[in-house]
Amino acid sequence: MALVIDGKQAAASVVAAVTEAAGKLEAEAGIKPGLAVVIVGNDPASHAYVNSKSKMAKQCGFNSIQHSLPEETTQEELEKLVAELNADPAIHGILVQLPLPKHLNAEPVILSISPEKDVDGLHVVNAGKIATGDLSTGLISCTPAGAMLLVKQIHGDDLSGLNAVVIGRSNLFGKPMGLLLLAANATVTMAHSRTKDLAAVCRNADILVAAVGRAQMVKRDWVKPGATVIDVGINRVDAPEKDEGKTRLVGDVAYAEAAEVAGAITPVPGGVGPMTIAMLMANTVIAAHRAAGKTPPKF
Ligand code: NAP
Repeated sequence: MALVIDGKQAAASVVAAVTEAAGKLEAEAGIKPGLAVVIVGNDPASHAYVNSKSKMAKQCGFNSIQHSLPEETTQEELEKLVAELNADPAIHGILVQLPLPKHLNAEPVILSISPEKDVDGLHVVNAGKIATGDLSTGLISCTPAGAMLLVKQIHGDDLSGLNAVVIGRSNLFGKPMGLLLLAANATVTMAHSRTKDLAAVCRNADILVAAVGRAQMVKRDWVKPGATVIDVGINRVDAPEKDEGKTRLVGDVAYAEAAEVAGAITPVPGGVGPMTIAMLMANTVIAAHRAAGKTPPKF
């Protein structure tokens, strides 16, 4: 049976290091990291995410600010708030919760965030830095940064000689994940909906990362014996075994059967999920250090 990679524990270590770095920055430079989280509309899932981010920021000793804007907020109003936060020296990180309500266009909002405060790592400047191999001066998208920490727990910092396959090519996850694996010297294949014989491509992977959004798509015979499997998917499925109308979360990997073949595997929940929020805190404390002219901690 595969080693189960404990994302909760890894995330707790990151959060502890962030809290320590934030405390030190405040003691030495009088600067408290400030994270502003902006949410538009009434989507309950997005509100739950935002609340847990704000709560974690407080727990890390940050100045945590939440802006909850009504559903009917205009593009101009949202971008005006971002401009104010860009100009506020007490704010080091700005996160606009996605998805936005349908009448708003996310792309210009993301581009309006100052790259130095873009703690989600979605601004084209930060995406471009990863693409050009600069992993030290920008902010790296939180979920791939967190997934990469889990990969490094198993394989160390240098992935030379290992084949990595990432299923999914989104700007949010698949592309930056592929680039981070490449930067660590893995030989990377980025697979997607047009990939021919996906199972055969995956069987070649020493590190298999699934970020598709299709429940339990990756089967036992897609996994190379001994491979490390990182499951990024979050899918809600019916769980009649719990009770009528109940649901449960599953990943993009058929966990039980894949775990019989893999060398190491992340569970869902409790794998990559907790890392995302921890890396958001890490990015905020990094941004605060840079704003103070201090060398940021490494995660
Ligand atoms: P996305 O933007 O919808 O991208 C999905 C990717 O999967 C696309 O590149 C798509 O290919 C590919 N795909 C779709 N069907 C496929 C198939 N049958 N075979 C192979 N590839 C296929 O999704 P995302 O934002 O990257 O998120 C992916 C999953 O990760 C979701 O379940 C999401 O909830 C989860 N997620 C989790 C976290 C976390 O904190 N743990 C964070 C982010 C995302 P094309 O490009 O060809 O369409």
